[in-house]
Amino acid sequence: MATGDGTAIRSTCPYCGVGCGVLLRPDGQGGLDVTGDPDHPANRGRLCSKGSALGETLGMEGRLLTPMIGGQPADWNRALDTVAARFRDAVAEHGPDSVALYVSGQMLTEDYYVANKLAKGFMGTANIDTNSRLCMASTVAGHRRAFGTDTVPGTYEDLDEADLVVLTGSNLAWCHPVLYQRIIAARETRGTKIVVIDPRRTASCEVADLHLPIAPGADVALFNGLLAEVARRGLIDAHFARNLSGLEDTLRAAGADDLAATGLGEDDLRAFFDLWCGTEKVVTIFSQGVNQSSSGTDKVNAILNCHLATGRIGKPGQGPFSVTGQPNAMGGREVGGLANTLTCHLDLENPAHRATVQDFWDAPAMPEAAGLKAVDLFEAAGDGRIQALWIIHTNPAVTMPDADRVRDAIAACDFVAVSDVTGHTDTARLADVLLPAAAWGEKSGTVTNSDRTISRQRAAVPAPAGCRPDWDMLAEVGRRMGWANAFAYDTPAQIFREYAALSGAAARHGRDFDISGLATLTDAQYETLSPVRWPVSTGRTGGRFFGDSRFFTPDGRGRMVAVSARAPAAARDDARPFRLNTGRIRDQWHTMTRTAKSPRLSSHLPEPFLDIHPEDAVRLELSEAALVRVENARGSAILRARVTDSVRPGQVFAPMHWTGETAPSARIDALVPPVVDPVSGQPESKAATVSVAPFAAA
Ligand code: SF4
Repeated sequence: MATGDGTAIRSTCPYCGVGCGVLLRPDGQGGLDVTGDPDHPANRGRLCSKGSALGETLGMEGRLLTPMIGGQPADWNRALDTVAARFRDAVAEHGPDSVALYVSGQMLTEDYYVANKLAKGFMGTANIDTNSRLCMASTVAGHRRAFGTDTVPGTYEDLDEADLVVLTGSNLAWCHPVLYQRIIAARETRGTKIVVIDPRRTASCEVADLHLPIAPGADVALFNGLLAEVARRGLIDAHFARNLSGLEDTLRAAGADDLAATGLGEDDLRAFFDLWCGTEKVVTIFSQGVNQSSSGTDKVNAILNCHLATGRIGKPGQGPFSVTGQPNAMGGREVGGLANTLTCHLDLENPAHRATVQDFWDAPAMPEAAGLKAVDLFEAAGDGRIQALWIIHTNPAVTMPDADRVRDAIAACDFVAVSDVTGHTDTARLADVLLPAAAWGEKSGTVTNSDRTISRQRAAVPAPAGCRPDWDMLAEVGRRMGWANAFAYDTPAQIFREYAALSGAAARHGRDFDISGLATLTDAQYETLSPVRWPVSTGRTGGRFFGDSRFFTPDGRGRMVAVSARAPAAARDDARPFRLNTGRIRDQWHTMTRTAKSPRLSSHLPEPFLDIHPEDAVRLELSEAALVRVENARGSAILRARVTDSVRPGQVFAPMHWTGETAPSARIDALVPPVVDPVSGQPESKAATVSVAPFAAA
C-alpha cells in the first residue's frame, strides 16, 4: 500500500520481532530509501540503527540469481523437478519421516503456511522445524503449559503503561531497540522503574534502577524466591487464583528453592522483591537469556507463575512478555512451524485437532506424533535417517549448537536443497540444489510481531529475473509431487485467505488464534491491509488475554507449574574453567548476510571478540586486544580479547554472528554443546564451558 501522497510503499522491517513499520521509496538507482512509518503502531516512526540502514544492505552483490544443481547453473524446471523427485523417492523408499524441512523466522507467514502444509499434510511428516527452535521454543512450551495455548497475553501498549519493567535474559537496548526506546519514553513521562536481570552489565543497564548480575542459569531460583516472597507478604490474588490449578504445589516448590543459587546479595534481592511486590503495574520481559537454556521452559513458567499468582496478567501495564527474535518468529508459531505443533495453535497429538486440519486441507496423510526438533533433525541428517532435507532462509551450519558437527551432517545428507538470497553461506555451499529466492523489498506477504500484530511486507522493487518467492517454490514442488489442487496458489493473498479460514475452523476447538475475520479479504483489501492485532474474528479484534482469568486449557483454568532450579548442564572444571555466554551485538543480524553490507553497521564492532573480566585477564597475562584461543572438546575459536568488568570473573561473552565466510576461526556456535531443554528442545546456547588462553600463531 502506498502512502497518501503515493511516494512510498508501506512495509515491515525484516530484522527483529518488534516488527517496525517502514516506508520504502525507490532511490532512482535501483535501491530504496527506508524511513520509519509514523503510522505503524509498533514504532510510530522510530527505527533503530539496523532498520535505518536497510537501504544500504540491498543491492545485487552476492545475490544468487539462478538455480544451481551440483554447483552448475540450471533452469528452474530442472531444479524444481529434482527437488520434487528426491523428496518423492525418499518418501516412497524410506517412508515420510525420511524427509525434513528446516525453515526460518525470516519467512513470511504465507511461505511458512505452505511449507507446513506440504510437510505435515501431504508429505506426511512432522519433520519440519525452524530456526525459531533456537530462539523461543521454551516460551512456546511454557505458554502451552500455563495457558493451554501459545498465547502472548499482553501488548506493546503495556510497556507504555507499566510502572515497573523487568528485563530478564534480554538486552533489549541492542536486540529490540525500538521497544527499549518505548520504555525509556515511559520512564521519562511516568517514571517507570527498570530492573535488568542479566549476568552481564549490558547496554540495557545504562538507565536501569537496579541491575541484578544473576549467576548463569539461576532464573528459576530467583523467580521462585520472588513467588515465595509474594506468598509471604500475602499478595496472592485470591480472586484470580480461584481459576488457577497447581497453586499449592507450585508454592511448595518455590519455597524449597535456595536463593543462594542466584549469586545475588541480600540487598539486591530485597530491592527487587520490594519493587516487584510494591508495584501493581509490572511487565516482565524475557528473551534468549531465559529461553536458550536446558531449563528454559521451567524458567518461563517460573516467571509466568509470579504473574498468575498475583493476577498481574492481561491487564493494562501488567503481564509477562516474551519478545521474539526474528521478524516472523510469531507467524511461524501460528502456522505450526515447529515439529511439535500444528497450524493455528492446534495440538498435533490431538486426534480431533488433526482431523480438522486434515479435512480442511483434504490431506492424504497427517503425522500423529511430533517430528524431529532441530538438534535431533540434523543428527538424523548426518546418520542417514533423513534422506532429503530442504533448508530455507537460514544458516544452520553456523548457528546450530555443535556447528562443526551440523556442518558435517548437512554435507553427509543424501540430498540437500537450500533456498536463499545468496549462495555464499556456509550452509548454501553444501547444497545439492540451490534455489534463488526473492529478497526483502521484493516479496509480499505478512508477518506477526511480538505483540500479535500482523503487518504486511510489500514489494517495492521487482525481484531480479530468476528469483522466486518461497511460497511459489514450495507450491511448485507440491504440485510436482502430485498435489496439484492443494497447491494451486497464484498469489500470497490466496494463501492468506485459506489460512484465515482454517483459523476459524481451529477456533471451534476453543483455541485462541482466530483470524477468520480476514478470510474474506479481497485482493485489494489484502493489498491495503493495515497492521492488525489478532484475534480478528466476528467476536473480537485485538486486545489482551487472560485478564478475565479464562484460559485455553481443557478445564479453562490457568496452570501454575511447580518448578525447581537446575544448574546449566555443563559443569565448569579445571580444564574448562570459564562459562561462555553467546549473544548478539547491536548492529549485526544473524550471520551478517545483510548487515555486513553496510559499512556504517560494520563499523560499530567490526571484528569478533571475547569479553573477559580484568581479574581473569591478569591471571592469564592477557592485555586488551590480545588474541585468545577459546576452546572445549567440541571446537575452538580465535577471538580478540576485550578486558571489561561488564562480565563477571569466570564468565566470558562472545557474539555469534561471524561465519566461515566472514571469520572462519570465530564460529562461536561450534563450541556450544547440543544440550537441549527436555520439554522445548531448545539448545542451551549460553552456558558452554571453555578454556581461554593467549593465542600464539604457529
Ligand atoms: Fe527493525 Fe527491530 Fe530495529 Fe525495529 S527495532 S527497526 S524491527 S531491527
